[in-house]
Amino acid sequence: MRPLDQLLHDIFGFSSFRGVQEEVVMRVMQARDTLAVMPTGAGKSLCYQLPAVALDGTAIVISPLIALMQDQVRSARANGIRAAALTSMSEDWRETQDRFQSGELDLLYVAPERATTDGFGRLLEQARISLFAVDEAHCVSEWGHDFRPDYRLLRPLLDHFGAPRLALTATADRRTRADILNQLGIAEDGLIVAGFDRPNIRYHVVPRQGLPAQLKALAKAHPGPGIVYCPSRAQTERVAEKMRAEGRSAAPYHAGLDKTVRAANQEAFVASEDMLVAATIAFGMGIDKPDVRFIAHAGLPKSIEAYYQETGRAGRDGDPAEAWLFWGAEDFARARRRIESEVEPARRPAERDRLNALAAFVEAATCRRAILLRHFGEDPPERCGNCDNCLHPPRTIDVTTIAQKILSA
Ligand code: ADP
Ligand code: MG
Repeated sequence: MRPLDQLLHDIFGFSSFRGVQEEVVMRVMQARDTLAVMPTGAGKSLCYQLPAVALDGTAIVISPLIALMQDQVRSARANGIRAAALTSMSEDWRETQDRFQSGELDLLYVAPERATTDGFGRLLEQARISLFAVDEAHCVSEWGHDFRPDYRLLRPLLDHFGAPRLALTATADRRTRADILNQLGIAEDGLIVAGFDRPNIRYHVVPRQGLPAQLKALAKAHPGPGIVYCPSRAQTERVAEKMRAEGRSAAPYHAGLDKTVRAANQEAFVASEDMLVAATIAFGMGIDKPDVRFIAHAGLPKSIEAYYQETGRAGRDGDPAEAWLFWGAEDFARARRRIESEVEPARRPAERDRLNALAAFVEAATCRRAILLRHFGEDPPERCGNCDNCLHPPRTIDVTTIAQKILSA
């Protein structure tokens, strides 16, 4: 066994790397700065966790959400990795600092807001850093769908300490990638992009016409676990209620629910083989359930990236799964109004572009998968054979016959 495979096996118990993981890990071990663009579920965490164990010192992991950090720390520890997070929720702050400074941590998770404080800088001065991992790196870019201004302040820190940098994201189109490289000071040849295709997911995009009946039919066709993404909290409650009335096990999930209820619903879903969750987009991040059979969107997602990420939660086991997007013209009208009234003027062009890309996707008569993959910079075949437009080509209007009819009338 080669040494990296040995480490992979010893730390994680996996027998082989997936996709570009090995290439990314190798680059990090050779101290070459890298931006890895890998789909959700591709195994990005391992790309910095393995080097973090193998290299001397501690890997600093920049992560945008406390919940995400907690998940990561938990799963890293389950693999015997010495991991901790410094957040407002951490109770072992003092102990974590001590362990960090005496070199007893492989991984230290921290939010960008904290990473860029003077206090944290001083802490870093007294420790040994093996690498900087910037997770969810699309947050650094105004073109990305989740801009976080504090990500922009990371550069001086990275430059000052000079440890190898690894940026990771699942959702970056060409422009966002270029921006991440630029903002984080990573050379262009440091970009590694994994394949984005999820061939087992069948995409359907249909106009909303009596949503309750549409969802009912969907639930009937799919006895396995499913997620229905809803635009509002109230709607998650209504949809869950309707599904229960149909005899399905179903629960709502949104940020307004009591914390224990939310956690219970999530746990039940992860353990279940037939449950439906009607959720806002608060649901899904950090959930590792391989056998989700369908994802439905009751309204327009925020962007193509968000759509790809949300539907990507279906069929991680590789078995057939479906994605259904139910949309209405009013979704676009609402989204446009929101951009023009609530979005800060400087960010409007990017948001308009995002919305237009979504409009082109839902209105397309051509292969859905090809549109998604081209959005992520791939060059896919014309037709995938596994989306609504490939399976049931929309009837295009025959202009010549119409013209003939007009002329002969
Ligand atoms: P991402 O951050 O890219 O969405 P994660 O790092 O959370 O993905 O990994 C997703 C899942 O894949 C996890 O359950 C992880 O344990 C698993 N995984 C990662 N790498 C491998 C591998 N080489 N072999 C098998 N499973 C893997
Ligand atoms: Mg991740």
